[in-house]
Amino acid sequence: MKEITVEGRKTYWGDKCSDKFRKRARTERRPVIDDLMALHDRLLRESYHGPIPGEAQGKSRVGIPQAMYYYDRFPFWRTYLEGIGLEVVVSGATDHHLATRGAELSLAEPCFPVQIAHGHVHSLLKGTEERPPVDFVFLPNVMDMEAPESSVASHLCPWNQTLPYVVRSAPEFEAHADEFLAPTLYFRAGRKHVKGQLAQYFERLGVKRRESDEAADAAYRAQTSFEEELVEEGRQACATLRATGEPAVLLIGRAYNIYDRSGNCDIPRKLRDLYGVNVLPFDFLPLDERASEDLHPNMFWHSGRRILEAGRFASEHPNMHIIYITNFKCGPDSFIKHFLRDVAGVPFLVLQFDGHGNDAGYLTRCEAYLDSKGLLRCTNAH
Ligand code: SF4
Repeated sequence: MKEITVEGRKTYWGDKCSDKFRKRARTERRPVIDDLMALHDRLLRESYHGPIPGEAQGKSRVGIPQAMYYYDRFPFWRTYLEGIGLEVVVSGATDHHLATRGAELSLAEPCFPVQIAHGHVHSLLKGTEERPPVDFVFLPNVMDMEAPESSVASHLCPWNQTLPYVVRSAPEFEAHADEFLAPTLYFRAGRKHVKGQLAQYFERLGVKRRESDEAADAAYRAQTSFEEELVEEGRQACATLRATGEPAVLLIGRAYNIYDRSGNCDIPRKLRDLYGVNVLPFDFLPLDERASEDLHPNMFWHSGRRILEAGRFASEHPNMHIIYITNFKCGPDSFIKHFLRDVAGVPFLVLQFDGHGNDAGYLTRCEAYLDSKGLLRCTNAH
C-alpha cells in the first residue's frame, strides 16, 4: 500500500482494497426525496404479514422464493394463491450462505439471480429452524409480460422463461418434482387468457373455475395498485427534484438485481446513506405510457424495452445519472447496454455483481462516478 497525502488528506493506493485503507469520500449532501428502495419493499408486501400461527388450519402451504419474479410480481401471486385457499410462505431475504448453496445446487451455469433462486427453493423445500418445509414451491413458467403501448413482442429472457424446468432438473430437487407449481402463462395475451390458464392448472388442487377467476381478478387489482403507487411516488419524487434542481441517480436493471440487498452488496441504499444521493429506481417511472418503437424497432425483450424507455427518460432529464445494475453471465444485458448508451446519449456506470461479499470495489467506482458528475463536490446541506 502507498499512502499519499494531498492537501493534508491521506489517500491509499495499492493492491489491497478494504475498509481499513479505503477512505470514504466526504459529502454533506442530503437526499431531498424519500427512500424509494425502502418504500418499494414496503409496498411490495403491503398487508402481507406472513403465515399466522393457528390460522392455516389444514391449508396447504405454498412457498414463494424471495428471488426473481418476487421483486416485481409478488402482489399478484400472493393475492392469487391466497385467493384459491393456499397459505403463502416467503423464503426470506438472500444471505451469503443461501446464495452459495444456490450456486452449488445449480446444474448448468446460470446467471447469479437464477443461482440465488436455487438457494431460495432449497430453503423452502428443506425448511429452516424457524420454518417447516412447505408443501409446494410456486415457480411460474412466465413467457412474456404486458406491454400495452408496444406492437412488438415482450418476452422474458430464456432463463426466466425456463426457470421451473431449470430448477427442477437440479439433482437435489429430483425427489421434489411433484412439489412444484409451475403454470405456463402469457401475460401479453391478456387477462381472459391468463385466467383460463390459471383455472386449468389449479384444477389439480381442486380449485373451482369461479374461485380461480375471482382470485385472478383480485390479483390483477393488487398488482395494478402496487404499480400505480410506485409510479405516483415516482412522480412526486421527480416533482421534488425539479423544484429543488437536485440531481439523482436513476437505477436501471431487473427488479431482482436492484432490490436484492445481498445480491448487490446493498449498494443502492449505500448511495443514499453514505453519499446523500437521491436514488430513483426505474420502476418508479411511468415507463409504459409511450410507444417505444422509435428507441428500437424490434426490442422483443420485455426488460430491454423498459430499460431503453428509462434511458429515454434520462436523456430528457439531464439531472438524472444512470447506474446500471447487472450481473456476470447475463446475456441480454451484455447487448442492451450498448443500445442504452445510444438512447441515453451519455456515459453511465455499470455495476456487475456475481456473489461478491466485499463492497469496496463497488463503492470506489461509485465515488469516481459521483465525483465525475459533480455530486461529491458540492453540498446541499442546510
Ligand atoms: S435477464 Fe439476465 S439476469 Fe435475468 S434471468 Fe436472464 S440472464 Fe439472468
